[in-house]
Amino acid sequence: MSDSALKVLYRLHKSGFQAFLVGGGVRDAILGLHPKDFDIATDAHPDEVNALFSNCRLIGRRFRLAHVRFGREVIEVATFRASSDEEDDPDSALDNDGRILRDNVYGTVDEDVWRRDFTCNALYYNIADFSIWDYVGGVKDIQKRRLVLIGDAETRLREDPVRMLRAVRFAGKLDFTIHRSVQKAMRKSVELLRNVPPARLFDEFLKMFQGGHALKTFQLLREHNLFRQLFPETDEYLDSDESFVRFVEAALINTDRRIAEEKSVTPMFLIGVFLWAPVRERAKQLREEEGMTVAQSLAAAGWDITGLQQSRISIPKRFTAPMREMLSLQPRYEIVNGRRAMKLLEHRRFRAAYDFFVLRAEVGEVDQKLADFWTDIQTQPSEARDKQFAVTD
Ligand code: ATP
Ligand code: MG
Repeated sequence: MSDSALKVLYRLHKSGFQAFLVGGGVRDAILGLHPKDFDIATDAHPDEVNALFSNCRLIGRRFRLAHVRFGREVIEVATFRASSDEEDDPDSALDNDGRILRDNVYGTVDEDVWRRDFTCNALYYNIADFSIWDYVGGVKDIQKRRLVLIGDAETRLREDPVRMLRAVRFAGKLDFTIHRSVQKAMRKSVELLRNVPPARLFDEFLKMFQGGHALKTFQLLREHNLFRQLFPETDEYLDSDESFVRFVEAALINTDRRIAEEKSVTPMFLIGVFLWAPVRERAKQLREEEGMTVAQSLAAAGWDITGLQQSRISIPKRFTAPMREMLSLQPRYEIVNGRRAMKLLEHRRFRAAYDFFVLRAEVGEVDQKLADFWTDIQTQPSEARDKQFAVTD
């Protein structure tokens, strides 16, 4: 376990509070995996946690918690929650579909456990005596490698439809099956994802596609009709355009490989990949109907399609702007001589747009020779480049 997590657990314990490691930290440790973050549950209230740690910050409205920071590592400390019976409780609220809007009524560990999503995520490791508290058969379900929702699956998905995405994400990451009862409830609940704020879906998008199991997660999302809820424009093309599916899957394989190699990934690349088919189609339409040039049409289509996409997943500007640039640059990789072609090498999106072009070549959308040209030219000394791009026009 991380030293920082241990420090937090012991400090809470020595101050007279209960302190448990919960969630993915316990689950992954049992599975022999390295947990990626550590979540702590305690009976100390957020203010009390805040008072114990100088490196602490309180965050969240819907779900108030404390972040204790050690360098780059953040340990999340949550106070036990209980369900509220009071109608007008300001600390607890549901919307008309039964979705939880606020969840800030504090309770005890044996109330807290029922608020968690899957049984495998509801194990509590007690720092006082190193025991694991298992109220819901979580250990058994980990051994059986299955995701089971605590309580009535349909109600739990109504409370928080993001749990469907979490099911798929954990299934992809842990190689668990989604229990029949959960699958059945999911079939009835996919539409509820529309009620989830688009900003939250962006956070979840990052977890799903930057966790090292993007391909598997994508396939599961499609299998459970969830992908359509997230990327409706894209989904239309997946059933009819085989080469687009291969293009997307090649990008996902790439992403997973980069993460395995601990290289950086940017979400804008994958979002660009997902939106490519609708952007390409819209651009074609704009050329035919409005007489735009290729460059104009791609730029305009980039705006149109991102605009539509934002109503589902709100993608911050710092990603949409470079993404549109990356897509608009594509036609320039088909021109391999002249000054303008040479200038492309200096473009700030050269690398991303090049990677994108290489993927397109991989599925036969553009000539592989063009991709090879840009691959080779990057390694050549500048004199050779000058010669290559010698103005012919
Ligand atoms: P990982 O960190 O590997 O993605 P995790 O299980 O730790 O997985 P977190 O999002 O870090 O997931 O949440 C920590 C714990 O909080 C979960 O294990 C679960 O018990 C609880 N939890 C998180 N999100 C929800 C939710 N939407 N509904 C119910 N419980 C949740
Ligand atoms: Mg976690």
